[in-house]
Amino acid sequence: KEIVVSGIRSTGFLHLGNYFGAIRNYVKMQEAYNCYFFVADWHSLTTHPDPKDLRGNVYRVLAENIASGLDPEKVSLYVQSDIPEIAELYLLLNMLAYKGELEKVPTFKDKVRLNPDNVNAGLLTYPVLMSADILVHRGVKVPVGKDQEQHLEMARNYAQRFNKRYGQLFPEPVPFNFGDDLIRIPSLDGEGKMSKSENQMATLYLSDSDDLIIKKMSKAKSATGKEEDGSMPEAVKNLFSLMDLVSTPDVIEHFKKTFEDGSIRYGDMKKQLGEDMVKFIAPIREKAKSLQEDQTYLNKIMKHGAEKARESAAQTLHEARKLIGINYY
Ligand code: ATP
Repeated sequence: KEIVVSGIRSTGFLHLGNYFGAIRNYVKMQEAYNCYFFVADWHSLTTHPDPKDLRGNVYRVLAENIASGLDPEKVSLYVQSDIPEIAELYLLLNMLAYKGELEKVPTFKDKVRLNPDNVNAGLLTYPVLMSADILVHRGVKVPVGKDQEQHLEMARNYAQRFNKRYGQLFPEPVPFNFGDDLIRIPSLDGEGKMSKSENQMATLYLSDSDDLIIKKMSKAKSATGKEEDGSMPEAVKNLFSLMDLVSTPDVIEHFKKTFEDGSIRYGDMKKQLGEDMVKFIAPIREKAKSLQEDQTYLNKIMKHGAEKARESAAQTLHEARKLIGINYY
């Protein structure tokens, strides 16, 4: 079976982007692939979270993954910090990662712009840790959203550099989405993507109440009429792309027609979309809520997942040390 690896940072509530960019694929891949899915708690330390919040977020990400359909019996579901081999591989890969190259990564530049007082080395080397996450299992396919595309390119570079310098060990991992293009769910205010830690009123969370979903949808950015060249304004495209995810084909057809003939009422469209979102999100929210209360169960899952993941990670590190020449005994 092909090896699949992907992770989600424990930085807050999961949202529609995490679901459609990542988790939906996890669930579809769990039968046919050898899957390693993890909560990236080390990655979330770049922003210095309060320890209490971090713990809560780790349990939440686990619960929301399982509530979305992930079966911990079929995949290895674990927490990153339970696998010390990842930290060791991160150290080894850092020797093959260049400062200038890391400084040019757009997500790094964005973070520097948004938070100039905390430009730590962990933030700069984020793509190296992410590469270690994947390469530690010799992962081949990585189900992620569009925002991670460039980080994956770096993982391929590090794999190549390692193989060239020390001998063949790592495959070159590629981003993966069923269908074709990688997904990017836009935020409801039209500014950037939905995200756990930014623009929270413009992001639909899997834990939002029905009322809040309807309210957020009603405030979503729309437009009046068409662009001058007759094309669809960006904000309307975003609304249709959300409809494609949760509404039935006849509902979509109806609103496409009204857009074409100019009779569309965006209030109606957003109301419909709100209702369809509620239908989609509510069952996941309720299931996650009850799972999250059962920490004994979640601890059992984490421990079991970590055992499987450590076995695979230990093998890779054994090979890596041997190739590098740091196997003395
Ligand atoms: P943060 O706001 O803390 O940066 P995030 O919401 O961007 O968090 P990550 O933990 O960085 O989420 O990413 C988890 C997974 O979800 C990744 O595979 C990422 O590509 C995907 N993802 C995140 N946001 C979106 C989005 N808006 N559309 C599609 N996929 C997304």
